[in-house]
Amino acid sequence: MNLFVILKRTFDTEEKIVIQDGKIVEESAEFIINPYDDYAVEEAVQLRDKHGGEVTVVTIGEEEAAKELRTALAMGADKAVLINTEDDLEDGDAYTTAKILSEYFKDKEVDLILAGNVAIDEGSGQVGPRLAEFIGIPYITTITNLEIEGTQATINRDVEGDEEIIETSLPLLITAQQGLNEPRYPSLPGIMKAKKKPLEELELDDLDLEEEDVEAKTKTIEVYLPLEKQAGRVLEGEVSVQVNELVSLLQKEAKVI
Ligand SMILES: Cc1cc2nc3c(=O)[nH]c(=O)nc-3n(C[C@H](O)[C@H](O)[C@H](O)COP(=O)(O)OP(=O)(O)OC[C@H]3O[C@@H](n4cnc5c(N)ncnc54)[C@H](O)[C@@H]3O)c2cc1C
Repeated sequence: MNLFVILKRTFDTEEKIVIQDGKIVEESAEFIINPYDDYAVEEAVQLRDKHGGEVTVVTIGEEEAAKELRTALAMGADKAVLINTEDDLEDGDAYTTAKILSEYFKDKEVDLILAGNVAIDEGSGQVGPRLAEFIGIPYITTITNLEIEGTQATINRDVEGDEEIIETSLPLLITAQQGLNEPRYPSLPGIMKAKKKPLEELELDDLDLEEEDVEAKTKTIEVYLPLEKQAGRVLEGEVSVQVNELVSLLQKEAKVI
């Protein structure tokens, strides 16, 4: 099987994030593989082990994203591709990402593309479905189980706590939801092997793309951290006194009634 994982390098939202001039200060951030993409890598590796074939992980990013690709190789992927946009593009959005990926996939024989359900940093959840539309294959989002038999796929998908079972055929794009599997940690031998696995680097030129072809369709106006939560207030006294005080606070302080 020709299995591809599209993977994003994201900053770790569990760590401290500093914003300066509307941008996240990268030097103080910790970077990881987008957690949903860990499920996608794990599933691809398990499918390769069961059905044979090859797993290629692809990312669009800067030179540093090679580190996350090496981690995916250490988890068991066979090959990696970094589409390096550092010299060509300053900005991009879900359209940019999906459009570049669609050019990459134009001449590839694909059985299955695995993406994350959503990127934890920007959270648009659009790249997978947009890519599938561009290259004209079906897609199923937020999947929690996948069985493949020949070219037929049976999929369970999470629909807000309920479950939907879908039958479809390959080629296909899926997006991985939490619970799809238990992603492995790269083992020491895996890390050693990953150093020797192929990591191809491409630029927009190699995909016959110009900057104008992938120009963002949206513009980020502002980036800011959530306001710090104020300490709660405990009202005391008779219930009737508390109710009066609460109504007064909602009118005068919170200004919501
Ligand atoms: C050239 C370029 C410049 C950018 N510049 C900026 C910037 O200046 N400021 C800023 O805030 N953001 C920037 N971005 C990020 C961009 O806005 C988002 O990556 C894009 O909107 C995708 O949305 P998302 O991250 O919410 O992905 P989602 O659609 O939520 O991601 C879902 C899944 O799509 C796949 N995916 C997402 N991104 C990538 C990727 N890069 N490579 C491979 N697979 C991926 C993963 O499988 C992921 O789990 C840039 C992106 C590009 C391509």
